[in-house]
Amino acid sequence: VGERLYLGMDFGTSGARYALIDMEGTIRAEGKREYPLYMSKDTVDWLCSWKATLHSLLEDVPINLRPLIASISIDGTSATTVIIDSATADPLCRPLLYNESCPDALPAVRSIAPANHTVCSGSSTLCKLVSWWNSNDSNKESALLLHQADWLLWLLHGTLGVSDYNNALKVGYDPELDSYPSWLISQPYSRVLPSIQAPGTSIGSIKEDIRTQFGFPKDCIVCTGTTDSIAAFLAARATQPGKAVTSLGSTLAIKLLSTKRIEDSRFGVYSHRLDDKWLVGGASNTGGAVLRQFFTDVQLDKLSKQINPMVASPLDYYPLQAVGERFPVADPEMEPRLHPRPESDVEYLHGILESIARIEAKGYTLLKDLGATKVEEVFTAGGGAKNEKWTMIRQRVLGLPVSRALQTEAAYGAALLALKGAQ
Ligand code: ADP
Repeated sequence: VGERLYLGMDFGTSGARYALIDMEGTIRAEGKREYPLYMSKDTVDWLCSWKATLHSLLEDVPINLRPLIASISIDGTSATTVIIDSATADPLCRPLLYNESCPDALPAVRSIAPANHTVCSGSSTLCKLVSWWNSNDSNKESALLLHQADWLLWLLHGTLGVSDYNNALKVGYDPELDSYPSWLISQPYSRVLPSIQAPGTSIGSIKEDIRTQFGFPKDCIVCTGTTDSIAAFLAARATQPGKAVTSLGSTLAIKLLSTKRIEDSRFGVYSHRLDDKWLVGGASNTGGAVLRQFFTDVQLDKLSKQINPMVASPLDYYPLQAVGERFPVADPEMEPRLHPRPESDVEYLHGILESIARIEAKGYTLLKDLGATKVEEVFTAGGGAKNEKWTMIRQRVLGLPVSRALQTEAAYGAALLALKGAQ
């Protein structure tokens, strides 16, 4: 038996990437593509663009490694919705992107869903579906809803109507019951919903024409995917309850693996299922974007080097870019607090980094108070992960081991799902 490899592809907000890994998780090849902008009637033809990008990524995989690929998986942006005709597979409308809102559907959705359910947001997949359903009279009988990742995977396996419970959360799927809830099943549009598998489940063999076009092996399978942010969490391989990933990008987001599911709409806290565990998440409005208001990345680097991370900063800030915070304090009126500013830029930066670390600690404490597994170790992703002094400050404030995640690319997480599906 020769070596086998596992291919993951990430279709993110700004472009697509692939990662090809072996059984140990070592990266054998990786690459990146921007989305080409195909226009049709003055709007971007996203389906055309995604399909072209998929083919470009497959062509970018080194030709000598393609025959070794045992399985493929894909993640896509959450709540990016494609509605097609199940008989012809032709799209029935343009794809509705993750950040598009359909507020016209909110009253109808609110009237059927439990209060504060994740579908009660204008950009949810369910609002997109209901908005389409209410504004169309034809093709309803044969319509089928897919998420971006499902549609891309369908191009590879050819079986219509399969999704995963991470992508399906925002259409209302109940991952605890492992079915669509009765309040959704009873709606006339529930028949357009796809069937659901766990992420990283084999859907079937790769289509023969794709297989021969790119040179994949006969036994190559295609597996269900997930959303881009879950794939990024999977990349860090935080596989035990209590392991967490803090993402220090423009904003601060924390994700914790828990044995218990928790939900609290006041704080925007909700849980995604990951097999027999729960991925609990919360996102604050603080983060690196505030740092950029005061310092360039070069300055951040230089000033950070002069910080003594063992000494607690006495400065108590709440760094926000604009008014309002959601997690770990729900207060839409909270004002940014970044004063008094000391003369020394080193002291100022120290105070900001320390204050963000305290918000992070408060976030993990809130998750525990809401019933999640207690955090034991934190991996870090995002632009702030490379700041070693900040890592040491956070380690002291959190009282936990903190390190940089070895892998943070969503494509790597998707490759791990391909590996899982091939087991
Ligand atoms: P995004 O959320 O926009 O994808 P990134 O993960 O690329 O963000 O991270 C960018 C953020 O990282 C910026 O807001 C910047 O302030 C922050 N950053 C960059 N370099 C450093 C550094 N040395 N220390 C702390 N933060 C940094």
